[in-house]
Formats: sequence, structure tokens, C-alpha cells
Amino acid sequence: MEFSEFELDDRLLKVVEENGYKKPTIVQQEVIPSAMSGFDILADAPTGTGKTAAFVLPCLQHLIDFSNKRHSLCRILMLTPTRELAMQVHEQVKSFSRYLPRVTSCTVIGGVDHEDQLPELSQKTDIVIATPGRLIEYLKKKLFDIKGVEILILDEADRMLDMGFYDDVMQISKMASRREQTFLFSATLEGGLLKKFANEVLKNPVEIHVDSPRSEKKKITQYKIYADDLSHKIELLKYLLKSEKINKTVVFIKTRERLQELVSELDSAGLVFAYLRGEMDQDKRLQALERFTNNDVKILLATDVAARGIDVADITHVINFDMPRSADIYVHRIGRTGRAGRKGVAINLVEAHDVPMLGKIERYTGEKITLRVIDGLKAKNKLADFSKKKRKPEDRKEVKKDEKTPHKKDRVRSQKNKGKPNFAEKRLRKNSQVAGE
Ligand code: AMP
Repeated sequence: MEFSEFELDDRLLKVVEENGYKKPTIVQQEVIPSAMSGFDILADAPTGTGKTAAFVLPCLQHLIDFSNKRHSLCRILMLTPTRELAMQVHEQVKSFSRYLPRVTSCTVIGGVDHEDQLPELSQKTDIVIATPGRLIEYLKKKLFDIKGVEILILDEADRMLDMGFYDDVMQISKMASRREQTFLFSATLEGGLLKKFANEVLKNPVEIHVDSPRSEKKKITQYKIYADDLSHKIELLKYLLKSEKINKTVVFIKTRERLQELVSELDSAGLVFAYLRGEMDQDKRLQALERFTNNDVKILLATDVAARGIDVADITHVINFDMPRSADIYVHRIGRTGRAGRKGVAINLVEAHDVPMLGKIERYTGEKITLRVIDGLKAKNKLADFSKKKRKPEDRKEVKKDEKTPHKKDRVRSQKNKGKPNFAEKRLRKNSQVAGE
């Protein structure tokens, strides 16, 4: 299937081409036509499957098709669990709308001064990307209004629920009750709470199970290498960077002080690399990114904060020099490799104190991370004992719950058409009117 087979505006197709997207991913093939025909969507699409473009493109097409309908403060509302994800989605919205000068977008996220955020919200904005906490704060204080929302998107709904946003999102959904469509994306559609939530917010959705082909699913091979301490990790990193068949690697480090330390270590080891750290001046940041994007350097060192918004398509390796502080940050870090059908490798350098986090990550992703030992650089600590630690009772419960087979609905597409707005037909009518003029 080709992008040109969707009824997308030429300006959107141009961006798709410029972004180097050759073919739509599975989730895009499933979501885009249904979304453009006016259906609600319920999709299990984890990060890395191209889900963002799957909802951003139909939303932009909606704004193009119904460009006169511009009287509400916010026409499309995208909710994400974290501000990092909100910013990434905003980057994609800006990128895809770069030839649509009238389309406006902004974020409503925590950690940003109210004085910086509120003025934007007093103006009409086509697309608002928000985290539930900050948005609900403004809605309760009547500083913002979402009554006119036409499309509501819930991205990574499972994480939103995990983070305790059930009530907030339900309230937001009720406030935007006049909407025409709702899209819910989640890494998994299992679990009673998610099902209840989906039933409440969606109307006769098209259910999309992205039974991803191997090319889009298990494409990131994950390894762990045990390390005794910081200096051992530095030795391991130097070894990996020199010996791995590395085309493009991002190395994640937890603080900028530590990053600075690594910069001098790797420098004296004769390695060529670029780095990004927080509070770097914009010119230097852009220069570093450009060197990495253009393959002038194959290694990029970065902290999580500094790496926000990086979207380089062909990263082959992610090395977690320091393990992240949560499982979802892990998923985001490794999601920078193995993008859209390509293969990727994630290598974790694990110290004793990282072992519990590693367990959390394995439970969160449902994937085992393979142990790798490097001759001559084997850890002396007996880390394996930590990993065999007894599971806590609540973890055991969690496993039981996940084992339940989800209830699957086999839906007949034509039945769903009943009572749904038919945007495809509206568009056709509009186009033939334009053509007849
Ligand atoms: P997402 O699942 O939305 O986080 O997307 C993962 C990555 O895949 C992003 O870097 C996108 O730029 C990239 N991507 C999305 N759709 C395509 C496509 N059709 N072809 C190639 N890359 C894509």
C-alpha cells in the first residue's frame, strides 16, 4: 500500500515524502482510512509503530477539509501521559503541518510557567496537545474551554491510566462531549480498567489490533551487561563503541555532570562523537545534532532532557550507560532505534542497584533482556543473585491479571457505518463541488 492511496492532501503527501516515509506502517494502513471516514478508533499500537503519524495525518486532513469551521478555542485535543510525549507529538504536528500555514498548535503541559502558557490558550488554536493534570487545572479554573473540540485523541491510554489519570480524562471527555470522533491508542488493550475506560469514551469504535509483523514488533534486540561500578562501565562503553558494528549510536547518561566526565574519558580514548546536554546554547546543540544526523559522527552522548525531540530515523544502537529512572523512559529511549521496520540494538550497562529497575522494565515491556558477557570485562559482583530475587506479592497478582485472555470483538465494518458521520462522502461532495465550479 502507498500513502498516495489515502485521500490525503498533496501538502501532507509532500511532507510524508520529505520525511522519507516510503510506505505506510501497518497501523497507518489500518487507522488512516477509518479515521478519515469519521469512525472512532480503538487501537493497540505501541510506540515505534508509526502511531503518531497515524492520528496526526487524519487530524490535519480534517482541518483542511473543514477549514471554515473555525470558531472554537480548540478544535482537536490530543492527550498524552507525559510532557515529554506531548512535546514529541507537538514536533510531529508541526512537522506535518509545515505547508499548512493556517494550522496552529500548542502544548499545555506541567513544568511550564503559567504566564508562558496561558496567553496562547486565550487564542483559537486548532490542535492542543496536553497532559491531563495541567489541562484539568485550567479547565477547573475556567481558564480554558474545550466544548468545541471536534476530535479527541488519547495517546498511550494505558500509561495515562497507570499514572492515575482515569478521573481526569473522564472529566475531560465529558467536557468535550460534542466531539465528532475519538481515537484511543494504547500499547495494550488488556485489563479491565482500560476496557471500561474505552467503553465510556468511544462510540462504536473500529477496533484495530496491530498484530505487527516481525519487522515492526520485536525489532529491537535488548541486552544487559553487568558492571561493577562507574569505571567498569566506562571500560565497557569504550569497548562497545570501538568494537560494535555501530552505524549510529545514542548513549544515554543520567546527568550532565556525568556526561561531562564521559566526554573527557572518550576523548582521551580517541573516540569521535558529539554530545547534547541540558543548558547548551542553541547553536551548539544544533551543530551537534547536525553532525550526528549527517553521519559526520556516529556516536551521540545525551541526557534524557537534552535528547527530547530528537527524531533521527536510522539510529542502530541505543546504549544505556546509566539505566533510566522509570520503565516508560526506557521504552522511549530504546524506541529511538529500530524505527519503522528497521532493526535496532539496545544495550544496558547494569550495576547492582539497577537490577530492580531492570525487573520493572521486563515486566512493563513483557520482554526478557538477554545477558551478554564480554570476555575480559566480566563483572566480579554476583549480580545474578539480585535478579533471582523473590517477586513481591503484588507483582505476582499483576502476572495473573495479565494472563487473562482479552475479550475480542469481531466487528463487521459495514455495521459500524450506521449512524456515523461520513467524512469521506462529505469530502467527495465538497471536491466535486469545487471541481464543478
Ligand atoms: P511513533 O510510533 O509514532 O513513535 O513513530 C516511530 C518513528 O517512526 C518516528 O520516528 C517516525 O518518524 C517514524 N515513522 C512513522 N511512520 C513512518 C513510515 N511510514 N515510514 C518510516 N518511518 C516512519
